[in-house]
Amino acid sequence: MPASARRIGVFLCKCGGNISDFVDLEEVKKAVEKIDGVVAVEVDEHWCSSPAGKRIKEVIKEKNLDRVVIVACTLNMHQPHFMEVLQEAGLNPYLLERVNAREQCSWVHKDNPKEATQKVIDLVRGGIARARYLSELSPIVEKVNKNVVVVGGGVAGIIASLELAYGGHRVYLVEKSPTIGGRMAKFSKVFPSLDCASCILTPRMAEVESHKNITLLTYSEILEVSGSAGNFKVKILRKPRYVDAALCTGCRDCTTVCPVKVPNEWNMGMDKRTAIYIPFPEAVPRIATVDEANCLYLKYSKPGKPVCGKCVEVCKAKAINFEMKPEVVEVEAGAILLTIGSEVFDAKKVPQLGYGLYKNVITSMEFERMINSDGPTGGKVINPVTGETPKVVAFIQCVGSRDEKYNPYCCRIGCTASLKHAVLLKEYVSKDIDVYICYNDMRTVGKGFEEFYRRVRDLGVKFIRGLPSEVKQKPDGSLTFNVFDTTTETLYEVNADLVVLAIGLTPTPDIEKMAKLLKLSRGHDGFLLEAHEKLRPVETLTEGIFVAGSCLGPMDIHDATSEAMAAASKIMGFLAAGEIVKEPIVAKVNEDLCSGCRVCVSVCPFDAIKMEDRGEGKFVAKVEEVLCKGCGLCAASCPTAAITTQHFTDEQIRAQVRGILVGV
Ligand SMILES: Cc1cc2nc3c(=O)[nH]c(=O)nc-3n(C[C@H](O)[C@H](O)[C@H](O)COP(=O)(O)OP(=O)(O)OC[C@H]3O[C@@H](n4cnc5c(N)ncnc54)[C@H](O)[C@@H]3O)c2cc1C
Ligand code: SF4
Ligand code: SF4
Repeated sequence: MPASARRIGVFLCKCGGNISDFVDLEEVKKAVEKIDGVVAVEVDEHWCSSPAGKRIKEVIKEKNLDRVVIVACTLNMHQPHFMEVLQEAGLNPYLLERVNAREQCSWVHKDNPKEATQKVIDLVRGGIARARYLSELSPIVEKVNKNVVVVGGGVAGIIASLELAYGGHRVYLVEKSPTIGGRMAKFSKVFPSLDCASCILTPRMAEVESHKNITLLTYSEILEVSGSAGNFKVKILRKPRYVDAALCTGCRDCTTVCPVKVPNEWNMGMDKRTAIYIPFPEAVPRIATVDEANCLYLKYSKPGKPVCGKCVEVCKAKAINFEMKPEVVEVEAGAILLTIGSEVFDAKKVPQLGYGLYKNVITSMEFERMINSDGPTGGKVINPVTGETPKVVAFIQCVGSRDEKYNPYCCRIGCTASLKHAVLLKEYVSKDIDVYICYNDMRTVGKGFEEFYRRVRDLGVKFIRGLPSEVKQKPDGSLTFNVFDTTTETLYEVNADLVVLAIGLTPTPDIEKMAKLLKLSRGHDGFLLEAHEKLRPVETLTEGIFVAGSCLGPMDIHDATSEAMAAASKIMGFLAAGEIVKEPIVAKVNEDLCSGCRVCVSVCPFDAIKMEDRGEGKFVAKVEEVLCKGCGLCAASCPTAAITTQHFTDEQIRAQVRGILVGV
C-alpha cells in the first residue's frame, strides 16, 4: 500500500490541563483534520487512562486505522502502555508515533500560547508524515544465561551471593583480595546492637565457601566484559597465590619461618606480616598467599640459584608452588552485580590534626583493629607512644567529611562508629577512661540509633559541639587542642593521651576502572550512580548490571545488606523469564551496498558490528542485534548509506522534517 493511502488516527491529550491550559487543542484538531489520510482526531483529558485506552482500541477498529499518532507527553512516559493498546487492537505496536506536546511545547512556551499551539500543529504534521512510513517490527527475543557474577566479597557481596545461590543461580563471586569479608571482617563489634561482628559474619562467609552454587574466585579481578544483558562473557584474572589451594591446610607454619616483614594491611599497617600470609584466622578461604612484591624467592632467585624458600621447606602439605602463573578464566552470566565497597578517607590529607605526625593520633579504622582481639595489640587499647592504656581519649568527628575542601558529603557512619568506640572504651576497657567526642552535629539516624546515643551519654562521655582546628603534641608526648563548644559558647582546652580521627568512606580506587569497564556513571561524589536513586536504587543505566552496598555511597551494614538483598531479588526477577525482549530499533546492513570499508566497526561504541568474510576478498558488515543499542552512529557514518536504523530510517526522518516544514 502506498504511504499516501494510510488511514491515520490522531489522539490529542489535554494532560489534565498541562497541555490544554497553554495549547488550543481545538485549533490543533481543526488543522489536523484537514490532512490527507487522517480519518479520526479525538481529544481526551488523559489518553493514558484505561477507559481512554479502550476508546483508542474502539477507534482503531471502527475506522480501520493502520497508523496511530498520540500527541501527549514525552516518549519516556507510557510508551509500553500505548504500544500494548495498539497490539490489543490488532495493530503492530511499532505503527505508533508519539508527538511531545508537553515537555517540548506547553511547558516551555507557557508565555506564548499562540506560538505553542502553532508548534504543536507543526510537530503533529511531522508526526503524521513520519507515521505513513513506519513499518511493522518484531521485538528481538534472546535466551538468558541464569548465572550471575558478583564482584566484591564484602558483606554486600556475601549476602547477595547467598541470596542468589539459594534462589538456584550459579554465582561467581570475584574478590580481589585473598579473603572475602570486606571491612566488616575487621570489626570486633558493630553498632548499634554491639553484636560480635565475626559471630554474625564468619558463618555466612563459611556458607559462601561451601555452597554448591557458589564458585568463589578470591585474589581475582575482572579483566574484560563483553556481550550484553542476559548474555555477558566475563574474563577474570586469577592472580597466582603460589600456594596450591587444594593442598594448603591453613596451618600457618610457613608464616612462622618467612624472614620478610612488611606492614600488615589487615591491621592498617600497625604491625607487620610475613611475605607468605593468611590475612586473619577466619579468612575464607583459609589459604596462604605469597605476596610476590616482597617474597625473596620470587624477587631474587636466578635459574639454579634459589633464594630463601624457607616456607617450602617447612610446608608439610607441599602446597607452595613458585611455578604458578596468572590464569584467565572466562565465565558466562546473565547479570553482573557490583559490590566493590568503599575506601576510608586518608587522614594525612588533614595534616593539622596530627595524623602521620604523632603516633598517638590514630584513625577510627586503626582503633577498630586495636580493640579487636585478633588485632595488632591483641585487643588492648593503648597509647602507641607509651604502650599504656590511655586515661583520656578524644574523638574528632567529620575528618574529611562535610567539608568542601575534601568530601562535601556526610560519611553517615562516623558519628555512630565513635559512639560505638566510646562504649567499648567505657564498658570493655575501663569506665574510668575520660572520653570526649568533638562533633559538628550528632547524626544518629536509624533504628535503635537514638537510644544508642542516649546510652553513650549516660556512660558519662563528654560531648563538645565543635571541632578543633589543630592538634598539638606536648613535650611529654600527650596531645592537646582547643575547641569552641557552640552549645555552651565556651572555649575548652582538651588534653588527651590518644586522639581518634573519625574518618569517613570514600570511593574505592578501583571504581574508575570498573565504571569504565561496565559503562557506568558516577556521581559528583565519585561513587557509582544508580538508575534512579529512589525508584531504581540497585539498578544501573546499563541493562543487566546491578549495584549494591557502599560503592553507591557511604552506608552502614544494615543498608549494605538491605541493598544486597534488593539487588539479588531484582536480578532473580530479571532472569526469571528465561529470555530477554529487546526493542527491534537496531542497525540493519544492506549487504549489496556495503563496501566493507569498516567505518561502522570503528564508530560503534558497543562493539556490535563485525566484518563477515564473503570470500574472494569481499567483507560485509554484520550487526549483532543483541549488542546494538540503535544509537544510529553507524548509519550516520556509512559512506555508502548501506546501514539504516530500523524505526528511524532516512525515509521516515526526511518525511517528518518535510511535514514539520510545510508552509515554511
Ligand atoms: C571505622 C568504621 C567503623 C564502622 N563500624 C560500623 C558498624 O559498627 N556498624 C555498621 O553497620 N557499619 C559500620 N561501618 C560501615 C561498614 O564498614 C560498611 O557499611 C560496610 O563495610 C559496607 O560493606 P560493602 O560490602 O559495601 O563494602 P566493603 O566492606 O568495602 O567490601 C567491598 C569488597 O569488595 C572488594 N573489592 C573492591 N574492589 C574490587 C574489585 N575491583 N574486584 C573485586 N573485588 C573488589 C574489596 O576487597 C572488599 O572485600 C564502619 C565503617 C568504618 C570506616
Ligand atoms: S602453605 Fe603449607 S605451611 Fe603454609 S599454611 Fe598452607 S599448608 Fe601450612
Ligand atoms: S620464599 Fe622466603 S620470603 Fe618468600 S614467602 Fe617463602 S619464606 Fe617468605
